[in-house]
Amino acid sequence: MKPSRIYLSSPYMGGTEQKFVQDIFIGNWISSEGADLNEFEKDLEKYLGKESHVGALSSGTAAIHLGLVILGVQAGDAVICQSMTFSASANPILYLGAIPVFVDSEEKTWNICPKALEEAIVDRIARGKKPKAIIAVHLYGVPYQIEAIKAISIKYDIPVLEDSAEALGSYYKGQKCGTFGDIGVLSFNGNKIITTSGGGAIVAASKELKDRAVFFATQSRDDAPHYQHSEIGYNYRMSNICAGIGRGQMEVLDAHVQLRRDMHDFYVDLFKDIDAVTVFTAPDEDYFANYWLSAILVAPSEATGINREALRLAFDAANIESRPLWKPLHLQPIFGNYPYYGAKVAENLFEDGLCLPSGSNLTQLDRERIKEVVVTFFTK
Ligand SMILES: *Cc1c(COP(=O)(O)O)cnc(C)c1O
Repeated sequence: MKPSRIYLSSPYMGGTEQKFVQDIFIGNWISSEGADLNEFEKDLEKYLGKESHVGALSSGTAAIHLGLVILGVQAGDAVICQSMTFSASANPILYLGAIPVFVDSEEKTWNICPKALEEAIVDRIARGKKPKAIIAVHLYGVPYQIEAIKAISIKYDIPVLEDSAEALGSYYKGQKCGTFGDIGVLSFNGNKIITTSGGGAIVAASKELKDRAVFFATQSRDDAPHYQHSEIGYNYRMSNICAGIGRGQMEVLDAHVQLRRDMHDFYVDLFKDIDAVTVFTAPDEDYFANYWLSAILVAPSEATGINREALRLAFDAANIESRPLWKPLHLQPIFGNYPYYGAKVAENLFEDGLCLPSGSNLTQLDRERIKEVVVTFFTK
């Protein structure tokens, strides 16, 4: 019999989620409003600390879309986006008819490169159009270079939309990811560190901004007894049922972060004597990563036949999921015609990088199966 599939990252319930959902059913709050939405938002605000105001939405993608709306992005505007990320970071730029401008990564955090970012801004300004926003991402839960990006944002007066979809539980110098941007974004998709089945949130520094996001997310209804609208509305509010699941998941968030970090430690140990492999690790102790996904770089060798794809196929043959890193968006067919600034850092990472099973629910037996593939592969 084939052993069951080991996934990169699958949902992991803490146990109380069903109780929250049951109470919602009993109270008949099967709705886009309800006490659980408010409580889930409060839980997140408390967790994130600083002065954060959270609006729960239907997805992280919706949060990015509304974030850009709130930052005033309109058709024809340029929006800078880290190239190496999931397509959902950039798709909302196109929803608005705006123009994505992609920027390379740097090798320390794999996130947006400050030098290439500044080069992009200076060139876009020289061409007559200052970008409206910068989308920076904490890839795989490793914070981007917070201070350098912030300094550029201030220097050119361009707001940062912080895509923290992968980084709930990560922090930089003690401050939680999601609270650094002018707008922050979280995701609770099924594969993320906690999940509401599908869901997301916008994190704002003021109650006014949060209220504005919720206003847009609930069809932009003006204050009137009838349905009155003076702005474009969206149906992006999180369901109260999903918020109930989220309340249960918040009880285990810190435990999940620890479990993911344990998986990262497992890989550091597993590959410590294998020269061809580097485990992606936060640059120094200022950076605390949730290691949502553990990732490695495999140095290709023609002599031994070792490379990322061969390792991926070896895992797959043992029914273990692994996946190349996010393909840089400037190489994607849908985004290929937009401007790109930088060199080949993201491209090279994509060539050699592999994400490994990282779920909070991996068992000792799962680890042994992973280890066996690695040992066999690198001793052949
Ligand atoms: C998951 C993810 C998103 C989108 O979140 P959804 O909730 O799936 O819409 C956006 N950006 C990044 C980097 C992600 O990993």
